[in-house]
Amino acid sequence: MTKFRPVTNRFAVDIGALQSGQIALFGLGIDANSSHLSGAAAAPGAIRAQLHSGSGNYTTEDGTDLDGVIADVGDVAVANNVGSIDDLDAITTAVDTILAAGASPLALGGDHSVTYPILRSVGRKFGAASADGVTIVHVDAHPDLYDDLDGNPLSHASPFARIMEAGLCRRLVQIGIRTATAHQREQAVRFEVETVEAPAFDSFDPASITGPTYVSIDLDGLDPSCAPGVSHQEPGGLTTRQVLNLIAELPGPIVGADVVELNPTRDVVDMTAMLAGKLTKELAAKMASVLSP
Ligand code: MN
Ligand code: MN
Repeated sequence: MTKFRPVTNRFAVDIGALQSGQIALFGLGIDANSSHLSGAAAAPGAIRAQLHSGSGNYTTEDGTDLDGVIADVGDVAVANNVGSIDDLDAITTAVDTILAAGASPLALGGDHSVTYPILRSVGRKFGAASADGVTIVHVDAHPDLYDDLDGNPLSHASPFARIMEAGLCRRLVQIGIRTATAHQREQAVRFEVETVEAPAFDSFDPASITGPTYVSIDLDGLDPSCAPGVSHQEPGGLTTRQVLNLIAELPGPIVGADVVELNPTRDVVDMTAMLAGKLTKELAAKMASVLSP
């Protein structure tokens, strides 16, 4: 049984009290699988601090009041060790628990390694590679398709290789990519990944994404001018408005999501943490919009 470390805030709910139809917010304090810098393990707390800072309110752009919609079940208890199978299993079991309650998972990373264990649960529930399977919309500067990085197959640079090998989705659509190496381009062909490189963003039609959708947002997919607080700043990325419009225009249903790779040690006046909080709110409202009658 996966343990959750409870948090205290207005959305906080004990995991045992999670109700069907709620959006289950949970933190994943993992940065041991980061290849370059540590720091992302502190992101869940930094995002919650902005979410509840008093600077804004709890109503989203479409008018959704998030009170009673988001249930913050706390942080999954992890050891945060490199390549940890125990942490991998703890995350998958945590998402199984959320889905079994009839709730939808919304994860606060942590580095991007967390998306593979989340998809082990979500992908299996939605029939994985079947016709009704889940489509992953992945915003990132990087494809994260390395077979391994520095000998770690669970690296934050590899989650989508593991997801595709295991057949955990029907389609993988990567948006904002601008750093694909020759190896990663080969992997994209091998796994039939659909790539929307950053310069082609305006030609992408979100309405082309149909059926159950999982949204994974690596904050370095946005331009460093919008999101400086990441470990791998890569100029030439998407704007905040472009990503918000993408979320709003996805037909859905959005069955799960993650916001990953915030590195608070690199942030400037908490602006990336605030952005992560904003994306979290808008994702929650979008996820909830298809759950209510
Ligand atoms: Mn990235
Ligand atoms: Mn990534």
